[in-house]
Amino acid sequence: MHAGAAGWLASRFETSVTRAKQCNVMPFVYTGLPARVVFGFGTLADLANEIRGLGGSRALLLCTPRQLRDVQALSIHLGHACAGVFAQAVMHTPIEVTERALIALRECRADCIVALGGGSPIGLGKALALRTDMLQIAVPTTYAGSEATPVLGETRDNIKTTQRSLAILPEMILYDVELSLTLPPSISAASGLNAIAHAVEALYARDANPLTSSLAVQGIQALATALPTVVSAPRDRDARAEALYGAWLCGVCLATVGMGLHHKLCHTLGGSFELPHAQTHAVLLPHAVAYNSAAAPAAMTRIARALGVVDAAQGLFDLARRLDAPRSLEQLGMSRAALAHAADQALTDPYWSPRPIERERILLLLEDAYLGRRPQSTSTPQGDRHA
Ligand code: NAD
Repeated sequence: MHAGAAGWLASRFETSVTRAKQCNVMPFVYTGLPARVVFGFGTLADLANEIRGLGGSRALLLCTPRQLRDVQALSIHLGHACAGVFAQAVMHTPIEVTERALIALRECRADCIVALGGGSPIGLGKALALRTDMLQIAVPTTYAGSEATPVLGETRDNIKTTQRSLAILPEMILYDVELSLTLPPSISAASGLNAIAHAVEALYARDANPLTSSLAVQGIQALATALPTVVSAPRDRDARAEALYGAWLCGVCLATVGMGLHHKLCHTLGGSFELPHAQTHAVLLPHAVAYNSAAAPAAMTRIARALGVVDAAQGLFDLARRLDAPRSLEQLGMSRAALAHAADQALTDPYWSPRPIERERILLLLEDAYLGRRPQSTSTPQGDRHA
């Protein structure tokens, strides 16, 4: 490059850095994702119209064995718009289940996919859409947030790998609050904390942006307000609506910015040790937040305010206790001997973290989480951006 041009560029760069430092709004990049979202009570009754509106005509319905009865009732309601039912979805999207579902999809000659349930059937729907480019509609009944993301985690030989592509993103999300009323309180609590984890990590993400951060704060507030009522009065429609709305906001956070140490640890423990997804999030979240607390002080202040507490990590631990969510990895069936291996895996291809990942500290974090101890906040302040 010509010396004069290089000097001009350098001076423009310096000016823009100085301006950014003086300005309340930091520079950011935001990429929105396309999706139609319908949210309400009794919206499932309109599914056939929604299928037609998207250009589909015959859907394969996906669910877990536990939700088969609901899906059979839906198939009768849909009539000709239902091509078949595949009720074998399980957690962590094992490839062998996807292969069986692909055969079912071809045999029933469906031209679109409807996944009803939590992240398990929705993950299966994504795996099928990625392989066939078919339209997908997600009908979420937990708070996992997968419906809003272009991300798919699949498990082969006990290793979970994650990929991102627009071909994975459901074209439509249909939220029917009525369907969430039957989610048992214990799963609701863990699943709600799973959603909060997306928003928490969005607030200290390297690629955080003002829009996602606002959604994150709203999502945490909605879930922290609603979950105690959801657990004590599971059929309370207002609380269920607020929780499901919060889950969507948190899912959008997961979809639009990068996740950190907490999600890395959960993927590692879920994929390699077969720990249940939402419950693992519930146990680890306060500890991962404590690990990063000194390195991301502005994010911590926003998380604490959204929770209505003084300290983010302690507040999350207390919320989990109030909801009677699992608080120890031992309770989830993890063996203590596996902690060192899990710490090693967390260091393999680590996600970005406000605080650098140090093996010995991660091991301490995992030991606290294993025993269900109150999280220990740590030092090494560095400051954060965008929070
Ligand atoms: P899940 O889908 O396995 O559901 C948990 C249990 O709750 C199941 O037995 C299910 O049948 C039952 N259930 C769900 N809704 C119900 C209802 N309304 N009434 C009664 N029972 C109900 O669990 P999950 O935590 O929602 O999802 C976990 C899976 O999702 C994991 O595989 C995880 O990796 C994936 N996930 C992916 C993303 C992503 O963006 N790719 C995000 C979050 C989770």
